[in-house]
Amino acid sequence: MSNETRLREDICRFGRSLFERGLTPGSSGNISVRLDGGGWLVTPTNASLGFLDPARLSRLDEQSRLIAGDAPTKEVPLHTALYDTRGSARAIVHLHSTHSVALSMLPEIDPRAALPPMTAYYLMKCGATALVPYYRPGDPAVADAIKGLAGKYSSVLLANHGPVVAGDTLEAAVFATEELEETAKLYLLLRGMNPRYLSPEQVADLVKVFGLTLPEHGHEH
Ligand SMILES: [Zn+2]
Repeated sequence: MSNETRLREDICRFGRSLFERGLTPGSSGNISVRLDGGGWLVTPTNASLGFLDPARLSRLDEQSRLIAGDAPTKEVPLHTALYDTRGSARAIVHLHSTHSVALSMLPEIDPRAALPPMTAYYLMKCGATALVPYYRPGDPAVADAIKGLAGKYSSVLLANHGPVVAGDTLEAAVFATEELEETAKLYLLLRGMNPRYLSPEQVADLVKVFGLTLPEHGHEH
């Protein structure tokens, strides 16, 4: 099986798994993977992640032009903005997942660290998460806002919309998106209960032992 054939099947398999667990409803959400030979595979517009066809995924060239398959998601600019600024990104997952969207609307959210350091796995898989302000669907300014983060964040939360998460493999991007969603859920469960988060010393220890690269201002408390 060629690498591209395998990636096409992986996109459909992970998409179905995310959809079936209620992590992105209807035809929301999209997935992309960077191909070794240049260009991307992206999920098509108006396609449910639960019912993707490997043969109909959008195949884009290096300039994001469609060269095969169905028309791509209108949210391609979210993906290319993150790929353009983050060279290590090989796959990107964007969902409309409930708890992450809820988190994005809370007044106290720090745009440089949308979640506090709650668990070691959140820090290890997502780093710090940037919050980008609300833009109406299709507004090209959202891509500029993502580019403005200069590739420092692998996980970005779009206000009143949902997460965009990069990984060095598709599996890593999916697992990081799930970790972000579960951590947002924990935050909402504990909101107003004065929970103990990881201390700056505990965060520094994780950074040292696991070689994490957190953005300069993420998780300084
Ligand atoms: Zn979206």
